[in-house]
Amino acid sequence: MSRLVVISNRVAVPKARGAAGAQGGLAGALNAALRENRGLWFGWSGQECDVFSGNINMQRHDGVTTATIDLEPQDIEEYYNGYANSTLWPLFHYRIDLTEYEREFGKGYERVNERFAESVAPLIEPDDLVWVHDYHLMPLGERLRARGLKNRIGFFLHIPWPPARLFVSLPYHERLVRTLLDYDLIGFQTTEWLDSFLHYCRKELGAEVDEQAGTIRYDGRETVARAYPIGIDYDHFMAQGDTGEARQAQQRLMSSTRHRTAMLGVDRLDYSKGLPERLDGIGRFFDQDPDQVRKLVYIQIAPPSREDVGSYQKIRALLEQKCGQINGARSDVDIVPIRYVNKGYSTAELFGFYRGAKIGLVTPLRDGMNLVAKEYVAAQEPDDPGVLILSRFAGAAQQLQDAVLVNPHSPDDLSHAIRTALDMDLAERKARWENLVATVREDNVHAWTANFCADLRAAPTAGR
Ligand code: UDP
Repeated sequence: MSRLVVISNRVAVPKARGAAGAQGGLAGALNAALRENRGLWFGWSGQECDVFSGNINMQRHDGVTTATIDLEPQDIEEYYNGYANSTLWPLFHYRIDLTEYEREFGKGYERVNERFAESVAPLIEPDDLVWVHDYHLMPLGERLRARGLKNRIGFFLHIPWPPARLFVSLPYHERLVRTLLDYDLIGFQTTEWLDSFLHYCRKELGAEVDEQAGTIRYDGRETVARAYPIGIDYDHFMAQGDTGEARQAQQRLMSSTRHRTAMLGVDRLDYSKGLPERLDGIGRFFDQDPDQVRKLVYIQIAPPSREDVGSYQKIRALLEQKCGQINGARSDVDIVPIRYVNKGYSTAELFGFYRGAKIGLVTPLRDGMNLVAKEYVAAQEPDDPGVLILSRFAGAAQQLQDAVLVNPHSPDDLSHAIRTALDMDLAERKARWENLVATVREDNVHAWTANFCADLRAAPTAGR
């Protein structure tokens, strides 16, 4: 079987199989697929160098070769903090109000994609299967084709694809999409993002689109586009739940909340996660039923991310202010209604927290998928499961229809959903959870990698 080459912005170095804390999630699944296919994983090391040299650091761990390059400070500023995280990320999460269109960012993005191409191309053998990941590297397929690569090359977008009327606000939007059509297979998280992409291709590019077959014909090429909803590494996650670390975390949460119901949110500190709106909903709930301050405690775990980007500094300040307001108005000497924690936890600890929380609140304004929602479901006690409140604008909502679905922009809707969750009887909680967990278990990350790779292997490459 052909070798698999994964290319992504960053590379997760594989840990030995069976080692304590062996990787789960996407990194674990990609490493498992790479191990099976004698694979190579290429990306940025996360390190800075004074001047880009193209030197590749190759390492081999447990059957997988990793190859990384360092980038210059200007690359990191323009490509990573700039075009990827200040232009594409907000735009693709429907936030044109936060989207920065700097020419220099676009140039840095092109330059780094070219640097990736020139560095990785010599490592790729003629029958390798190449899988490029995410919004940092959209033009990479085209750059590899320009170097004569005729391999099957696939691309997976981990974030949403915005509606055409938003996407056209991006300068050179046509160019970006044309580069995508140099891939043989393009994967999206949900049919909603796929449909937006196909609509754009038909309407703006004038491409011939067959929605049924998921094919796009343009400029003599044919590209396949499909939805592949990503899942969690279910078995690995459940094994984490069986550890002392998970049990201790659950115990810590439960003993500290005592007779109050714990409601939990776990989100990277990002404006797409709807955290200020969520706090408004919780504030509304307490306003409508002030006695609940003694019955319900909300715990928000929010590890900071992308701290070099201005919009992330602003969202952090706003959250601190909102938590302060609600706690200031509602706390007592023995009661604080919201616990806001600015740090990250291990998977095992999160498992324990999820299990100890009777309500999981996952309310992004827009999210490609949202794995926290799936982890919350997986971690529940089968005999007494908690209730997942989920934004209808998360990709996960397409699969998790038995959650309590909400409009995260509406404080009344959020408040009502919390009430519904608190009042839900055991029979309904179990019935909903059984449907949810069946999906989370089956549509796991290993099925996702296998489906994508099988379709990429089978994709037509005629015309190259
Ligand atoms: N996560 C973690 N520790 C934390 C908070 C989050 O390991 O303290 C993990 C979480 O378990 C999940 C991932 O980060 O697997 C977040 O994925 P999701 O799809 O929900 O959101 P993203 O951050 O990718 O936008």
